[in-house]
Amino acid sequence: MARLPCAIRSTPDPGDGQSKQQGAISTLMTTSDPDIVIIGAGAAGIGAARHLSGSGYSTAIIEQLPRAGGRAWTCATSVGPVDLGCGWLHSAGRNPWTEIATELGFTVDRRLTAWGEQFRDLGFSSADRAEAWDAFAQWNKQIRSNPPASDRAADAIDPASRWTPFLQALSGYISGDELEHISIADYVAYDDASTEDNWRVPDGYGRLITSARPSDAELRLGTALEGLDLTGRNIVLQTSAGTIRTRVVIFTIASNVLAGDAIKLPSALDPWRQAASLLPLGKNEKLYFETLDGGPFEDETHVLGDPHDSRTGTYYIRPFGKPVLECFLGGAGARIASAMSGEAAFDHAFSQLAGLFGSGVRKYLKPLAASNWAGTPSIGGGYSHALPGHADARLQLARPFDSRIFFAGEATHHTDFSTAHGAYESGQRAANEAMSSLAYGGRSDLAATGKQV
Ligand SMILES: Cc1cc2nc3c(=O)[nH]c(=O)nc-3n(C[C@H](O)[C@H](O)[C@H](O)COP(=O)(O)OP(=O)(O)OC[C@H]3O[C@@H](n4cnc5c(N)ncnc54)[C@H](O)[C@@H]3O)c2cc1C
Repeated sequence: MARLPCAIRSTPDPGDGQSKQQGAISTLMTTSDPDIVIIGAGAAGIGAARHLSGSGYSTAIIEQLPRAGGRAWTCATSVGPVDLGCGWLHSAGRNPWTEIATELGFTVDRRLTAWGEQFRDLGFSSADRAEAWDAFAQWNKQIRSNPPASDRAADAIDPASRWTPFLQALSGYISGDELEHISIADYVAYDDASTEDNWRVPDGYGRLITSARPSDAELRLGTALEGLDLTGRNIVLQTSAGTIRTRVVIFTIASNVLAGDAIKLPSALDPWRQAASLLPLGKNEKLYFETLDGGPFEDETHVLGDPHDSRTGTYYIRPFGKPVLECFLGGAGARIASAMSGEAAFDHAFSQLAGLFGSGVRKYLKPLAASNWAGTPSIGGGYSHALPGHADARLQLARPFDSRIFFAGEATHHTDFSTAHGAYESGQRAANEAMSSLAYGGRSDLAATGKQV
């Protein structure tokens, strides 16, 4: 198969607004020891940097990837931008990225989503859809009115129901994993806080997020944190591009990375790594096809591949009228896709679409771009969910350490986790904590006054 422009294994496309020049910054230690170092240039890192902007504290962001954005990544393809990571402004009316989009001149599309619809009822009649969504509503009712003591979302379903695979597929899209691994308390905290408005940025959510980085935060791309030493008054960061000394660190790395062994951390941070291990990333991937002229596809329509298969893809057709079809995979479906070669994953989606539209559909579809979040070492999956019984791990993970290490990232948000706006808000929180700490003179002054931040 021809090389795709943004397959994550390949060299990133610089179409996200970053020049190659910025990559070169990564090997230069341009600023002498910054006051604050942010680890990770995703939505949380950029959110923190925006909040620190103009504060008078010098700030540097170090990012392992050769691009900013993390799980926010708009890929420039021959038929326009597509989002390989976040694409929807969830809870859009109260989502801070909506206001930032307006501020930066991005258009926000406020149309209703086509998610619940099935184009021409293909493979999923309206009567079956009503039954399936009713099963989902019943499950939602039960986890609120009579939640199982196990806190395990799977314990509130009827395994014999014909709609159990449908519920498992939804769990894959919403949480990235099967209901067996999902905490009910965590799921409900998100669901109760979220609103029904889901909007989009036609030029790309990823592009919006990377465009929002303030110019006074130095960005060092291709710079991986490898170890951290807390024994002296200054924090010493060992990175792939040399040593950095700083007063305060804000971690925004994904839970899987924090819990893993890629970064050598002092044992004092073990409780944070333990909390991160209880908030693993599920699996979520996207495949994009180009739709060619003459095919059966209509703008802004949707099909679910197979409502009786928990691994099924969900297909958004010609969003904004672009000649594109997005296959979104979650849980088991995403695990299978990331274990396959890119070509095999596209073949799997081709077969599912052929089952709905007929075998002739293949000639109207061309592979365009694919994600591989699970296979990207500095990310490791889709988005976080709490394991049963461990919803409070989010608060544990969000606690500061020693008034000089602060934790942000989507997994630290106790209601809006798994989203780009939750990540942003967590970055703001951590930036506030860091500034309060520095205002009190850092760790030793805090210890002297006994003041808690
Ligand atoms: C397929 C998919 C679809 C999604 N859809 C939506 C959606 O529609 N709406 C929505 O709101 N959210 C969505 N999300 C979730 C959203 O993208 C994330 O919640 C959000 O982007 C996470 O931001 P973050 O800053 O917390 O983490 P990240 O984006 O993971 O940022 C952390 C950064 O840290 C870097 N890093 C890691 N280790 C190191 C190290 N040692 N040294 C230096 N840097 C390091 C990483 O490379 C990364 O860039 C989706 C995610 C996926 C994968």
